[in-house]
Amino acid sequence: MSVRFYNTLSRQIEDFSPREEGKVKMYTCGPTVYDRAHIGNFRTFLFADLLRRYLKYRGYDVYSVMNITDVDDRIIRGANSEHTELRTYTDPWIQKFFNDLNLLGIEPADLYPRASDHIPDMVNLVKKLAERGHAYKVDGDYYFKVESMPAYGEFARLDMSALRVGERVQDDKYEKEDIRDFALWKGYCEEDGNIFWDTDIGRGRPGWHIECSAMSLKYLGEDFDIHAGGVDLVFPHHQNEIAQSESATGKRLARFWMHGEFLLVDGAKMSKSLGNFYTLQDLMDRGWKPREIRYALMAGHYRQQLNFTFTGMEAARAALERIDCCLQNLRCAHGGHGPSETAAALKEHEAAFTAAMDDDLNFPLALASIFNLIRDLNILCTENKIGTTEATMILDTLKRLDSVLGFLHIDKAQETDSEIDSLVCARDEARRTKNWAEADRIRKLLSDMSIVVEDRTGGSVWRRK
Ligand SMILES: [Zn+2]
Repeated sequence: MSVRFYNTLSRQIEDFSPREEGKVKMYTCGPTVYDRAHIGNFRTFLFADLLRRYLKYRGYDVYSVMNITDVDDRIIRGANSEHTELRTYTDPWIQKFFNDLNLLGIEPADLYPRASDHIPDMVNLVKKLAERGHAYKVDGDYYFKVESMPAYGEFARLDMSALRVGERVQDDKYEKEDIRDFALWKGYCEEDGNIFWDTDIGRGRPGWHIECSAMSLKYLGEDFDIHAGGVDLVFPHHQNEIAQSESATGKRLARFWMHGEFLLVDGAKMSKSLGNFYTLQDLMDRGWKPREIRYALMAGHYRQQLNFTFTGMEAARAALERIDCCLQNLRCAHGGHGPSETAAALKEHEAAFTAAMDDDLNFPLALASIFNLIRDLNILCTENKIGTTEATMILDTLKRLDSVLGFLHIDKAQETDSEIDSLVCARDEARRTKNWAEADRIRKLLSDMSIVVEDRTGGSVWRRK
């Protein structure tokens, strides 16, 4: 069975095969660094992370690029209002972004090119488009001539006839030939203050869309495998990237376009005015762990809207406790009479996980197979059918699955204190044999060591006070 993904290009689920066998080149539109990214942004980045991790799990060698948009109207306004250089203004936001990615367990991309480092590449692309009759200049600005690309609008399924065509449009700043045309380069104006580049096409700065076209072309070449991003980018951003890149190269920009759906909060679009706007830090300040936030933001299918609620966060916490409880049971396991049963359970549930993920990353279904596995492992532990050999086999499988999930935290569990582990295991054993006095004695001992043990259905979990 091959991996299948929904391709926005065809609006269909298609078999995935990369251009070069075994190797996947992917590009994800990254953050605009003028503010702290919110959990809606992170849902998109977690979708891209899941996609990348799963392709690696399926044996592909993945090379991924995520741009950093550090040239933008809001950034220029922000830097000018603080009378600072562009870099001085954006560096702390970029640092915060990387810090949040790390906390959420998002694997780093292979490359994070910054727009401000690639102005000459963008200028060359604008020049190429102008030479080929796809761009024109009005005063200091360059525009993409939509009329020059008959296929414009097909990707975003736009009804081009609904737009007024060929009408000369003028607003207070830009003058262009056609309302559909979009800016490739913006000539310098006073509001830009000290932020500008002197180039072959004049003094100014690039438009947002050309940034991604230039950087994806530079690092992934013409016609790469996957272009990913949030669904809000389909139009105009991705449509315009396609127009620019394909008009310049004469080739298709990317084979697969994949888009993650929106995150709602309490059933509504997240906004500062509604008071339902959260950053990762906001949730951590409320006592939620990044691992729980990762789980909650990953839990839905990437092509469906996900409604974020604090009830959902509670469910994420409970689900992770079930996992931790099972890992604790495995650390206590000292049986070992049923390796074939263990192997069969592992094989069955991993196959179900892979089948679900192969089907356009059906994560809710894949997650169900993980919990079926957890259930079976708990039963095998209770029946004393897991010993050291089986435990090693199980941990190998769980580690492989966690290369996709990123929230099982197997290695972290292994690093835990063996003295505490053996006390917790001894207490579990005492409870199983209904030796309540002994169980209480061990609980007291652990408590003196600042360890809290909490009993769960099927076992226990411990944490430091
Ligand atoms: Zn982009």
